[in-house]
Amino acid sequence: MLTVEEYQRRLLQAATRLPSENRPITEIGSLVGAVLDKDVRSAVPLPGFTNSAMDGYAVRAADVTTASADAPVRMTVSDDIPAGDTRQLTLRPGECARIMTGAPLPDGADAVVPVEITDGGLEIVTISEAVTAGSSVRHRGEDVQPGDTVIPAGTLLLPRHVPVLASAGLTEVAVVRRPRVAVVSTGDELLPLGERPGHGQIVDSNGPMLAALVAQGGFELAAVTRCGDTGEAVRAALTPLADSADAIITTGGVSAGAFEPLKLAFEGSGSFDFVKLTMQPGKPQGFGIIGGTPVFALPGNPVSSLVSFLVFVAPALRAMAGRSPEIARHRATVGEQWQSPPGRTQFARVVYADNGHVVRPIGGQGSHVMGGLAGCQALAIVPADVTSLSVGDEVEVISLEGLA
Ligand code: AMP
Ligand code: MG
Repeated sequence: MLTVEEYQRRLLQAATRLPSENRPITEIGSLVGAVLDKDVRSAVPLPGFTNSAMDGYAVRAADVTTASADAPVRMTVSDDIPAGDTRQLTLRPGECARIMTGAPLPDGADAVVPVEITDGGLEIVTISEAVTAGSSVRHRGEDVQPGDTVIPAGTLLLPRHVPVLASAGLTEVAVVRRPRVAVVSTGDELLPLGERPGHGQIVDSNGPMLAALVAQGGFELAAVTRCGDTGEAVRAALTPLADSADAIITTGGVSAGAFEPLKLAFEGSGSFDFVKLTMQPGKPQGFGIIGGTPVFALPGNPVSSLVSFLVFVAPALRAMAGRSPEIARHRATVGEQWQSPPGRTQFARVVYADNGHVVRPIGGQGSHVMGGLAGCQALAIVPADVTSLSVGDEVEVISLEGLA
């Protein structure tokens, strides 16, 4: 038997980072979730032109140095400059221009008087406070200079990186390719979604669940298929996928029954390992390489499949995508006691209380309990040498609540 950590290490050794690819900036949506392979350097200054930081009046600050509530300055408004105005304007001495936030400052102006300290006049404006040169002005290049690194290589691109990526004057961005993942459910009992099972049949729920986990993890889906319980059926399903996918996840057919098709297909082939782990759920696991493509063979129980994905597959896929392998964990306090089997790392299904600071077990930790799977909010990780959790104990927890 291997421990969870030993098996994780074994899989991570086989998970090599995928090559880099240049993606057009117009596909910026698909860049989010990918890891930058090279520093992103801006091709342009930001802002690209000196512009107003406020709605107000562009002025020469020297013209309003005496303005006060008691002695306001009145000026002719020579122009109206909205955002998007592309004219090259020059302000004449003694005049001002009404200007909006983000609109280009006319030459000659060096400050913006916020509309709030004026009477808002359209032809003549009355200004009741002085401003200093540079106030409410964003200067060309004050944020970013051409050639500046705006996002370093190795960064996982998130929505907050999009504005600078979009603005940096780039046509392409080099990112680590994200793994394309194929999902194959094995089992003669399985029906596709939407069909009503007859006696002895069930709907394939692992395939759609793993597809959702793949998408949620930030990876690409290559295929979601099913196959029957023979070695030939498994080989026929996996062989073409080994060409089109970077990784394959199978479920079912790896335990100790009489018809375990993953084992029938690959046991003793030299390219596949079937192991038992000191964990609950998720004890039987398989891993192999087919045509250079890693195959993660997970047990068929939906709960076991979910836990196995999070504990073994997600870290490997993250490493392939150039990300840090570990998925997020946090600590919580036990709010109600439960037992854990000796010598096994338990991934206990729990619900949150007190904003996630406290966890309580859901009833029935059997790996087939689907209603409980839907109801649990997190997995509490109970180390192999701990057999009972008491109120007030601390545990590490993997949240199932987030999308990231
Ligand atoms: P196995 O690992 O193939 O022995 O399957 C263990 C249990 O999980 C059995 O009750 C199967 O019917 C069930 N199971 C296997 N694959 C799936 C699947 N794709 N969707 C739902 N249940 C499954
Ligand atoms: Mg099966």
